[in-house]
Amino acid sequence: MGEAKRRAATPKSDRPDLETGFNDAERAHLAEVRRGAYRHATAQLGSARRAASASAQADAIAAIHAEAARVLDTATGEFFRTTREGPAIEARIACKKGCNFCCHVNVEATIIEVIGVAAVAVKDPALRDSVLATAPRLAGLDALARVKARVPCPLLRDGACSIYADRPRSCRALTSYDAKRCEEELNDPEAAREQRRVFTWPRILAAAATDGIQSACVDMSLQDATVELTQGVATVLRDPGVIARWLAGESPFPAYAKT
Ligand code: SF4
Repeated sequence: MGEAKRRAATPKSDRPDLETGFNDAERAHLAEVRRGAYRHATAQLGSARRAASASAQADAIAAIHAEAARVLDTATGEFFRTTREGPAIEARIACKKGCNFCCHVNVEATIIEVIGVAAVAVKDPALRDSVLATAPRLAGLDALARVKARVPCPLLRDGACSIYADRPRSCRALTSYDAKRCEEELNDPEAAREQRRVFTWPRILAAAATDGIQSACVDMSLQDATVELTQGVATVLRDPGVIARWLAGESPFPAYAKT
């Protein structure tokens, strides 16, 4: 790529600086994840704006979510395979199919992620109904109220994530070393505890990808708020026309209020 094009593909927005506290190789990797996410999102959003139908728009946007997931999974897998500490860290991770304590909390997601998840849910009537039935029960619940309500994510099926390959980055990047502690936090969310131990590298990678994607939205004058996953997916399922309105610069998604 020529220098002019490389500069044009560098995010212009004033987003938080993620590039502190890492070694040179890690900094370079994070910067490339962020730049790659920005470039891919900019191209796909341009395609979505030119698309002739709501489903073609959704597909172009869902591809942004899918590519970020691929990059995150690849980078995490490389860490496990190629670093000295990787195998020991991988062996300590407690997350496994059927363990879903963390699937009873609000999930903060980008608009692009909820469009990607809605593109999957719309093809499965039971999943669609589950999201639409659960959204009103969760409306307005802050993080603590949601945990206390003990309402499971509507995308859980038989105890496992039914959209595992397409799950948002918040879910994908959360890797716990202690399932018992996750259970305790669900059962007694207000108890004073030390910070939970988690493997942080996927979260840092996910933040870099999100930063690039959100910067592309900002630079294209698109609503870049984060949304609560169930509310955001329900918004798309109720009215697929919100995608076109969002691409036209409107702000049709309810922004997530953490507290
Ligand atoms: S999307 Fe999947 S992993 Fe995330 S909270 Fe819902 S069921 Fe759990």
